[in-house]
Amino acid sequence: MLTDTPGIHHVTGIVREAQRTHDFYTGVLGLRLLKQTVNFSDQFTRHLFYGDETGSPGTTLTFFPYPGEEDGRIGKPQASTVALVIPPESVDYWQERLNAAGRDVEGPFDRFDERVLRFHDPDGTRLELVTGESPVEPWADGPVPTQHAAGGIHSVTLLSMSPFVTASVLDTFGFELRKQEGDRVRYATAGDRATIIDILDRDVEFGREGAGSIHHVALRVSETAQLYEWHDLFRERGYDVSRVKDRHFFHSLYVREPGGILFELATDRPGVTADVDTETLGQSLYLPPWLEEDREMITSQLPPLDTGSEKRTT
Ligand code: ZN
Repeated sequence: MLTDTPGIHHVTGIVREAQRTHDFYTGVLGLRLLKQTVNFSDQFTRHLFYGDETGSPGTTLTFFPYPGEEDGRIGKPQASTVALVIPPESVDYWQERLNAAGRDVEGPFDRFDERVLRFHDPDGTRLELVTGESPVEPWADGPVPTQHAAGGIHSVTLLSMSPFVTASVLDTFGFELRKQEGDRVRYATAGDRATIIDILDRDVEFGREGAGSIHHVALRVSETAQLYEWHDLFRERGYDVSRVKDRHFFHSLYVREPGGILFELATDRPGVTADVDTETLGQSLYLPPWLEEDREMITSQLPPLDTGSEKRTT
């Protein structure tokens, strides 16, 4: 039997430069590099995972840096924004920190009884920091003092071709309508973190996939067997659904719902920390077994990435 998702698993974006992305997400936002690997379908592209101290589902942002990628355009149908949760008393801290890092910050403004700061990463990915509670343990050795640290994903915002249809798909996943403010409708699941998806019912231009665009939003499922049931359900409905894939850190499938949003459904287990000591997370390039024999050749083709500089030295 299908069970409701407890929330968002990870969000994946497209960027241009691995180093710039790494420096921003670790050095400015204070997320921990959890895993550096390659795109399993294109081993000459890096795949970088950032999140909390232990790589909990619901904290993870992942990026594919494509050095020659054109700028994307935010529009429908896309996830337009990913928001991270910050403590309510840390708004001033973050506004100053982002300004000091050269980011233009909009806000703080109020939305649904929360305070919101809006800005972009160096590739133009639209980000927000939103006040709230989080059970997540932030990166202990990061550059942001833990009392101000971002505690994982707060929400994503979707621009759908058909908000009504996308809302019904969210309902199928287990999200319920919670509230509405202007053209923003909020849906949430009953999990303990990363539970919110907002749909903007707004007439916007068409988006284009590229640097600075969010590629997909992954939702949590409890076990691999569930993926086969979801697969059958989506196929019955005539959705564009992939087969179940082994992503090594999780099993997953992708489904493009009729409103145009690409969702992934991903298992919590084994997780990005399964094969390594949490002390050494992200320190070396992980390659899946079928690429391991080509390590030297792959490493020589990847753009360089220095992951040592952001660590707090005091
Ligand atoms: Zn994914």
